[in-house]
Amino acid sequence: MKSVVIEQPGELVLAERAVPTPAAGEVRVRVKYASICGSDVHIWHGHNPFARYPRVIGHEFFGVIDAVGAGVDASRIGERVAVDPVVSCGHCYPCSVGRPNVCTTLSVIGVHRDGGFSDYAVAPASNAYALPATIPDKLASLVEPFTIAANITAFLQPQPQDVALIYGAGPMGLTAIQVLKGVYNVAQVLVVDRLPERLALAKANGADGVFNNAEVPLAAQLEGVQPTLIIDAACHPAILAEAAALASPAARIGLLGFSGEPSSITQQSLTSKELSLFTSRLNSHRFPQVIAWMEQGLIQPEKLVTHYFPLDDIERAMTLFEKDPRTCCKVILQMQ
Ligand SMILES: [Zn+2]
Ligand SMILES: [Zn+2]
Repeated sequence: MKSVVIEQPGELVLAERAVPTPAAGEVRVRVKYASICGSDVHIWHGHNPFARYPRVIGHEFFGVIDAVGAGVDASRIGERVAVDPVVSCGHCYPCSVGRPNVCTTLSVIGVHRDGGFSDYAVAPASNAYALPATIPDKLASLVEPFTIAANITAFLQPQPQDVALIYGAGPMGLTAIQVLKGVYNVAQVLVVDRLPERLALAKANGADGVFNNAEVPLAAQLEGVQPTLIIDAACHPAILAEAAALASPAARIGLLGFSGEPSSITQQSLTSKELSLFTSRLNSHRFPQVIAWMEQGLIQPEKLVTHYFPLDDIERAMTLFEKDPRTCCKVILQMQ
């Protein structure tokens, strides 16, 4: 089988590998489509502290179960599945309180173990979620990116009367817009980014207002509007302080960034308005929720997709995704 392997930081190869055998409790998935995420690019360039090499990357993928390991019901063979990349132990403290995404022995498919940019991938059977026929193959790898938005909004508890502000109109920001509008019916969703093309995408994904802060600071453009719910999907360490300054009293702020750089902020700027700060990593059992949202038509994954490439064009696809944020949003790989 063909697999996209990062042999070591900076070295991406399309390798010929043996088809894996599912271990006990696992399924093997014949991968059909997989989407590229920023973290795949980070692993390629050696910027993901968790990655071990060599590694088959890819954590957003869809396929059909074609073999099962011991203890897995063989009737699952032939099932169309989206695979949750979060592999957890099930019994540590975070797992015991429903937070497997921060399991003390967390293993992420495509990061800590081999992933889905491959003709075949193996995963625990409980990580493979059956999809209804209403979700087409071509869009099914996009369940995972929407689980990021599902996870942070579960903390933020959006309300229709919220004035939401989203930093960043990349894939994370766009999925957040769709979830705030389509699932939670938030009246006002505002988005800030520095690329006009991305802001146009934000509008197409349902944003009510967009701001370009490339030259004029956001504070000067908001004209006194105080957001009650803020999501940082741009993930720059300087954003937290600005978000706290702009927020309404009693607002909630959600952080998705993973920078190792300090964020400088005063206690007063948080406490004086009694702001709530939430962080969110990956997803905790959000696949069923997102699958239901797609099935009910509450979110529109097709609005994120700009490109399809065959797996053979992986280097071109990854480079385009990385270098061309003006024309590129979700790039989906098709396996043969
Ligand atoms: Zn991702
Ligand atoms: Zn655990």
